[in-house]
Amino acid sequence: MKRGSYRARAVVLNSLDYGESDRILTFYTLEQGKLSGIAKGARRSRKRFVGNLDPLSHIDLMFFHNGSTDFVRVEDAKLVDAFAPLKEDIERLADACYLLELTSEMTREGIVLPAVYHTLVAFLKMLEASPNEELLRFFEIRLLSICGYLPHLGGCVACRQHAGEERLYFSSERGGLVCRRCSSGIMGLIPVSPGTAGLLSMAARLEAGKLERLKPGAAFLEESERFLYDFIKFQLGKELKTRRFMAKLKSAWA
Ligand SMILES: [Zn+2]
Repeated sequence: MKRGSYRARAVVLNSLDYGESDRILTFYTLEQGKLSGIAKGARRSRKRFVGNLDPLSHIDLMFFHNGSTDFVRVEDAKLVDAFAPLKEDIERLADACYLLELTSEMTREGIVLPAVYHTLVAFLKMLEASPNEELLRFFEIRLLSICGYLPHLGGCVACRQHAGEERLYFSSERGGLVCRRCSSGIMGLIPVSPGTAGLLSMAARLEAGKLERLKPGAAFLEESERFLYDFIKFQLGKELKTRRFMAKLKSAWA
């Protein structure tokens, strides 16, 4: 980026209080991809954009870039959508925060992927309209696909045989499905039915608006949650904070 002022459509991924009155922020923007920046005096009420920089906020962002560092200075933030209904329920908020954390962890500054922005906004809207766990799995596979980490779900990664009726396994280390014959000696295999693998393979290619065409089977949620998160952890090399929080919520509700 050259030195100057810019405008971007953005979702606030992360916000951290800094010093007396500043905030350090991470955004995913349509025009510039992931951005980090500082909002000077953001916590003083006289600033117009106070409150618009909370995580989840979909904003029209004005920022200044000095042409050298990767850090931008936030000049203004007009609210497009606060996703207020998502903040009214702790479970929905946790789901939404998971989408934000996953987006932040899977993307890098300097690599502009407009599809990440569009997908994130579309999924937050869908989550707001009708929360369900399938959406989280579809978001994961879409994001993996857009960011270039899509696992091989069309058949066995070892012998290349196409997925048929037979039970399969998923290996995060191998980056995809493994058939029963090729499975011996591979550690950390997770059983996956061909139906679940096929559905996720389709979901990876579909735009957010067309996902409602997919009809997941009974085993889908349990199978997909287990192996997708295993794969995400393998790719990122760490656990996600929001997933730990969601697990705690689930056990508290159970
Ligand atoms: Zn095989």
